[in-house]
Amino acid sequence: MKFSLTLSAMAASTAALHPRATPGSHRRQPTLHRRAGARRDQAHYQEAYSQRVAVRKSVFPDTIIHQESVSPLLSQLSAEDARSNLEEYTRFHTRYYKSQTGKQAAEWLLLKVQSAIDSAAARHGRVAASVKPFVHPNWVQTSVIATIPGRSGKTIVVGAHLDSVNQFSQSSGRSPGADDNGSGSMTILEGFKALLSDPAIAGGEAPNTIEFHWYAAEEAGLLGSQAIFAAYKKEGRDVKAMLNQDMTGYIQKTLSSGKPESLGVITDNVDKDLTAFVKKVIAAYCSIPAVDTRCGYACSDHASANKNGFPSAFVIEALMEHTSNFIHGTGDTIETISPSHMIEHAKMVVGFAYELGFTARL
Ligand SMILES: [Zn+2]
Repeated sequence: MKFSLTLSAMAASTAALHPRATPGSHRRQPTLHRRAGARRDQAHYQEAYSQRVAVRKSVFPDTIIHQESVSPLLSQLSAEDARSNLEEYTRFHTRYYKSQTGKQAAEWLLLKVQSAIDSAAARHGRVAASVKPFVHPNWVQTSVIATIPGRSGKTIVVGAHLDSVNQFSQSSGRSPGADDNGSGSMTILEGFKALLSDPAIAGGEAPNTIEFHWYAAEEAGLLGSQAIFAAYKKEGRDVKAMLNQDMTGYIQKTLSSGKPESLGVITDNVDKDLTAFVKKVIAAYCSIPAVDTRCGYACSDHASANKNGFPSAFVIEALMEHTSNFIHGTGDTIETISPSHMIEHAKMVVGFAYELGFTARL
């Protein structure tokens, strides 16, 4: 989850979106944006976002039809794997995009993805999938892109940002980033592994290509995803749909409020038709319901896809007012996370990628 862009927008949304564990500490947020680096990044971001692009229209399926193929994949999802990977991932001191440990975290992730591909290859004999870093010239942390080629270049993207930030001390402060966004990063890793257990997907037989993205530098203003989707637009890449996963593990406030555990479907800065399709995926494949909620600003990487002309959707861990208070600080630890909630998100990821991956007429 990115900070809201402007101070006025922050004033309006900070209390709701990012209440801090430390009383009064939110007053320090504006100083962050006065730092030269942050100001430069923000200017870059604003410039990139000033050019709106009409989002291409895809026709998404009316119904969910691949239950028979998807169900066995869902049983591959492991809350224990999600938890242990997240535990390891949160040990990096910070995943700040300009830090050495932020660079190392992206390298760790790339190796995890490669090892998932290697395991699938050992099982199936051969897989068409591959993973590579997406290098950003202006900072040390790479993004990571895994591709499962299909029979066409029409591409379905699932994404999550891999960086973290300590808002009070960006370059050196401890930032475990368990929920924001270790949870989303490990959620889609689980989804990726489960999809590769399908022989048709692993064999490249799906009509469409499926990509998994882990974005650098989201916290600095969606910089990694902006670079990737701007490049895709320039290259004429045919991205039919993008699903963003940012914060997938915190449920305590939902439960404390007496509400049932749910998936928060974001309704602003997203594609309406794709969002309607995602709700069908949730109804078909998840054990908990969807609830509509709003970010109020271009709060995460789905906005980069949408604003470069690619339809996107975003599903977060809860109603926005029930998301984690601990993000962007030292308290965003694995103890606050529900691995089984991450798996509900992962079920959605697998259902989304499979159903759209096998929709020839997108
Ligand atoms: Zn964040």
